[in-house]
Order: sequence, then structure tokens, then C-alpha cells
Amino acid sequence: MGLLEGFGITLKQIGNVVTVPYDKDGGPKRPKPERFHGRHVLNRYEDGMEKCIGCELCAGVCPAKCIYVRGKDNPPDAPVSPGERFGFVYEINYLRCIHCDLCVEACPTEAITESKLFEFSFTNRQDAIYTREELIVDDSGKPKQLPWEDWREGDDEHTSAWMRATAPGGDPHYEGKPLWSGELGYGVRAPEGGQPAEAAAKAAALDEAAHDDHDAGAHH
Ligand code: SF4
Ligand code: SF4
Repeated sequence: MGLLEGFGITLKQIGNVVTVPYDKDGGPKRPKPERFHGRHVLNRYEDGMEKCIGCELCAGVCPAKCIYVRGKDNPPDAPVSPGERFGFVYEINYLRCIHCDLCVEACPTEAITESKLFEFSFTNRQDAIYTREELIVDDSGKPKQLPWEDWREGDDEHTSAWMRATAPGGDPHYEGKPLWSGELGYGVRAPEGGQPAEAAAKAAALDEAAHDDHDAGAHH
């Protein structure tokens, strides 16, 4: 009977088309999740300053070794970032990137995040190596479109969704609380909806367990 039930489930799915035709004419396509890992952007603060401080943590954590960063002291008269240094050279080699977002997790200033763009192909190696000038958002805070990139509606939104969903380190006490800086063109973005009720219950349970442990320790 188990076998027949299994085939029954398969038969019920016949005619249930789940694929969405690819729109080659520039129209909207299947919606992508907010936290989609696509092509990176380098972010700027609301006042236009660059967030990257050239610390190279992203390059150090990258498992594919595809980021190259060089920091440089900020010119005192015209600083590029609010830090001591700024990302003078910044390159990502997309022939190697696996879009794991470890660079996003490692970045202390939320400088590097990802858009939803995944349709970019190259005809030469040089185009595959994105430079700082190509990655940095424009004066409206949106990613710059390079000639070979196929951006569709919504691909340039929620560029910091993954960072906002995971900061700070998954501690449920902070779920739903904005602990990130504002972005040029967007300000301080709202936290994801998530599951605040469940998170609050989880945080309360953790607090209670910690309290019990503390009491038990005191009795010893
Ligand atoms: S997404 Fe992963 S592989 Fe790509 S640059 Fe970042 S750390 Fe490296
Ligand atoms: S993107 Fe972030 S982690 Fe990478 S060099 Fe800049 S500040 Fe450091």
C-alpha cells in the first residue's frame, strides 16, 4: 500500500505546473526572497560617506579567496569614510565567488552586502572582476548597472536584507531591533518581520534557564 500511496502523490502532481516562463523581454520574473544572495554592493552612509574602512576582514573570511582589499589612510581634508582608513582598492572576482555571504557576516561596518541580481555573465575575465567603482552604490543608494547586467524590477531592493536578518549573531534578544546604520537613499531600514512572538518567548526561556543555572551555582 505504501508504494501505491507514493505513486498516488506523484499522479496528483501531474498537471501542476510550478515552473515560471523566463521573461526574456525585460519584464518582471519570479519574485526572489528578500535575503537572496546576488551580486554585491558596497554601501554608503546617509551622508554619502563610504562604509568600507579597508579592514580586510571580508577578504580574510572569504572561502573562495576572491576578494582583494587594500586600505588607505583617509585624507584629513576630504575623508572618504568615517574611519581611519577607507577601502582604496576593492575587488571581487565573480569567477570564484560562491555567494555564501560570509563576507557580509564578517564586515564590521555593514559595508558589503548583496543585491538580488544573479544574471550577469561575462565575455572576458576582466569584466568578471568587479572593482570598487563598480560595486559602490550610486548617489541615490542604488547599485550601479553595468552594461552586461540584466537587472529586473526589485533586484536592487533589500540589498542589506541578509545582514539585517542575521545581526547580531542570532541572539533572540535583539530580533526585530534595528542595530544597523542608515544607508544612503534609504535611511535606517526596518527589521525583517521574522517571528517576534516566538523570538520573545525564546529569549524569555533562555533568560529563565540562565537564571536557574545561576541559582543552582549559588547553592553549590
Ligand atoms: S559571498 Fe562568499 S565567496 Fe563570495 S566574496 Fe563573499 S565570502 Fe567570498
Ligand atoms: S567591506 Fe567591510 S570587512 Fe571588507 S574591508 Fe570593507 S569594512 Fe572591512
